[in-house]
Amino acid sequence: PFRGAPAAGKPENMSDCLFCKIRDGLIPAKVVYRDDMCVAFEDINPQAPTHVLFIPHKHIPTVNDITAEDRELVGHLFTAAAKVAQERGHADPNDGYRVVMNTHAHAGQTVFHIHLHLLAGRPLGWPPG
Ligand code: ADP
Repeated sequence: PFRGAPAAGKPENMSDCLFCKIRDGLIPAKVVYRDDMCVAFEDINPQAPTHVLFIPHKHIPTVNDITAEDRELVGHLFTAAAKVAQERGHADPNDGYRVVMNTHAHAGQTVFHIHLHLLAGRPLGWPPG
């Protein structure tokens, strides 16, 4: 029932997607990690000392559009994020980090190509705003 619903905010199709363009190197970004499934780059408006976005190569507009065939891909975003978090010292129990995906209006999603935010480097409040 959640699949295939059109994005209510500002949907972008595959050919007009900011993050597809970053994936393809058409728009510059500070890429910190890349493999055959995902790309990670520094957020242009960082909300914490570490703020990195992990995107799948595959254009998936929102979490609503993730299907069973994407399970490995989505799991892979987490292992990639954990790897970068560890490289930056955030895996330490005395440090820590947050990974989050925002979906649609109330969560403030503005780019309709799923991205896992990695936030770290300062105490992160809970609940989020
Ligand atoms: P929000 O914009 O409310 O954080 P999202 O969860 O959709 O909602 O996150 C989009 C993220 O993409 C934002 O953190 C924003 O700063 C980041 N962003 C937008 N444009 C670029 C860009 N050209 N390069 C890197 N990050 C970007």
